[in-house]
Amino acid sequence: MRKALLIVGSCVALAMLVTVVTTTRALDTAEEELQKWGPNDRNRPEPPIITPGTESTQAVPGRPPSDAIVLFNGHDLSNWEEVKGGPAKWTVGKGYFATVPHSGDIQTKAAFGDCQLHVEWATPNPPHGVDQDRGNSGVYIQTLYEIQVLDSYNNVTYADGEAAAVYGQYPPLVNAARKPGVWQMYDIVFHGPRFDANGNVTRKANVTVFYNGVLVQDHVELTGPTANHERPPYHPTPERLPLRLQDHHHPVKYRNIWIRELKEGQ
Ligand code: MG
Repeated sequence: MRKALLIVGSCVALAMLVTVVTTTRALDTAEEELQKWGPNDRNRPEPPIITPGTESTQAVPGRPPSDAIVLFNGHDLSNWEEVKGGPAKWTVGKGYFATVPHSGDIQTKAAFGDCQLHVEWATPNPPHGVDQDRGNSGVYIQTLYEIQVLDSYNNVTYADGEAAAVYGQYPPLVNAARKPGVWQMYDIVFHGPRFDANGNVTRKANVTVFYNGVLVQDHVELTGPTANHERPPYHPTPERLPLRLQDHHHPVKYRNIWIRELKEGQ
């Protein structure tokens, strides 16, 4: 009996050790990589060479970096689908696409993990409605974490529901909204949550957001998926999930959407 208990105890300890080692490894990759090399070591591998993108203007979307995955090519929604599957029903205009109110959210066919994400959007002009009922949409990272899209120009709503908020969790540091009808942009860095074999969170998700070039979310740690009037806890999710855009019944336009996946430790 005592021997059996000892074996069970050893197995539990081993499982815990494996969990700790696996988690630590994921978190410490950058640190480990640093320790491999002395300062200014010429044997250290050079970073890959890429061609950086160009800035967007109101008239013309910029060019993505050469290593980005382009999610909208300006012509069709071939990279997108309805949440339940099947072709995305949003409309495509000249160089942009737009929500078809009440047609439902759309999401990418591909799934993504930790990433840098660029999204440009414009709310209807002239504006209609007030508060949340005005140019509302949303960028749902991994289908779960909404960076709010809203016409926040001369439009008051609750702080954690305005444009560039992590919806229901973090208001943006400042309101950097442009006028309705004008192209605006998000540059987002997202690191997803990690879970151990038992489904416990070993790393919460975090996000950094630049809104029209202004830092508005500074590496904030998410409490879990975003939701309306609640903060639900994390539940175990895959490391890669699609990017989703919200149909909040307003015809919000999108263009120039691209993503760069980040390796562990970046
Ligand atoms: Mg929304």
